[in-house]
Amino acid sequence: MKYIPAKPPLTGETLASLTARLQERGEPAFRAKQILEWVYKKRARSWDDMTNLPKALRTWLDATFELMPAALVLNKQSEDVTDKLLLELGDRSLIETVIIRAPQDGVGLDHSRKTICISTQVGCAMACAFCASGLAGLKRDLNAGEIVAQLLQVCYREDARTPRARMELASFDNIVVMGMGEPLANYDAVIRALTIVNADWGLGFGARRITLSTSGLVPKILQLAEEPLGLRLAISLHGATDEVREKIMPVNRAYPLAKLLPAIKAFSEKHGRMVTLEFILIEEVNDSIAQAEKLRDIALDLHAHVNLIPYNTVEGLPWKRPSNNRQERFADVLRDARVSVTLRREKGHDIDAACGQLRLKTEKEREAAT
Ligand code: SAH
Repeated sequence: MKYIPAKPPLTGETLASLTARLQERGEPAFRAKQILEWVYKKRARSWDDMTNLPKALRTWLDATFELMPAALVLNKQSEDVTDKLLLELGDRSLIETVIIRAPQDGVGLDHSRKTICISTQVGCAMACAFCASGLAGLKRDLNAGEIVAQLLQVCYREDARTPRARMELASFDNIVVMGMGEPLANYDAVIRALTIVNADWGLGFGARRITLSTSGLVPKILQLAEEPLGLRLAISLHGATDEVREKIMPVNRAYPLAKLLPAIKAFSEKHGRMVTLEFILIEEVNDSIAQAEKLRDIALDLHAHVNLIPYNTVEGLPWKRPSNNRQERFADVLRDARVSVTLRREKGHDIDAACGQLRLKTEKEREAAT
């Protein structure tokens, strides 16, 4: 299950690790910064683009590192506002990176909020009953370079759209670690990757605009609270009682609400920022008024924001989204208690934007073709 690439990706190197590697070769200290600038600021697509490096160094780099470990195989744009990149890795694994443009009221798409959603594993071991990503289990963790590469591919794509004005990643409002996989089950690679994304010698993206979403691995939430990086946290709650949550999220057996809720509280006290509770609304599973009332109490106690997400149907799974009416009634219970709540408008339904669905489809087509 562990994937060891023939050459490690350059996008997994920190300034310190690359400097050390180059010093072993007797290169001057400034070379590492120069190389990272070519990668992240000037978006070099080949080693030979790095014209201020000696030829011998370029040859060594080419033999030692993979410049870009994720190749774009498909860019699917939806009718609405979602844009999906399907990427292929060195072992032919497929991952998804999604760009979401959410229009702000009255100002249209040009002034929309732009979010990038990245993946952290190939498949997922958490086996949430409603989710397409976990249907086939976990194939492997992504390494740090593969996680960073997703964002660099988004930059390449934006550069191609606006060739003259190179779009910096900073023109995006948020990065959400909510794609395929459980990020806290791949802790070290995720933290290393986000450190590179955040660093000024890397992609220079503010950590307070990065949100990591977890199904609720309690010890790792506590560990994350101690990280100096300062990421935002979202919790996939999806059930406001153990009885309901356990039915759809197996992780609740190891970390029931009595353990999870205090860990969330500890995190938000440490950070002084609101944690987000995500709650997918699934018909007849967790959309009762009784669940809304329990969720309200939890949110008030944790001083958390609640993000209600109407369920995206997944082919082969029996779950349904409740009617708009029922969604609103659920939300009203929270609004009435002045809980900070958003009822997310659905995006990207027409391009299979729900977690893991485009990948699943492509894998099925591949199987059918062989
Ligand atoms: N493993 C992490 C991050 C990946 S899932 C986590 O569990 O948070 C990102 C979010 O998408 C989670 O809240 C997940 O529950 C939700 N999700 C998964 N399948 C979905 C679907 N079919 N419709 C709507 N949301 C879904």
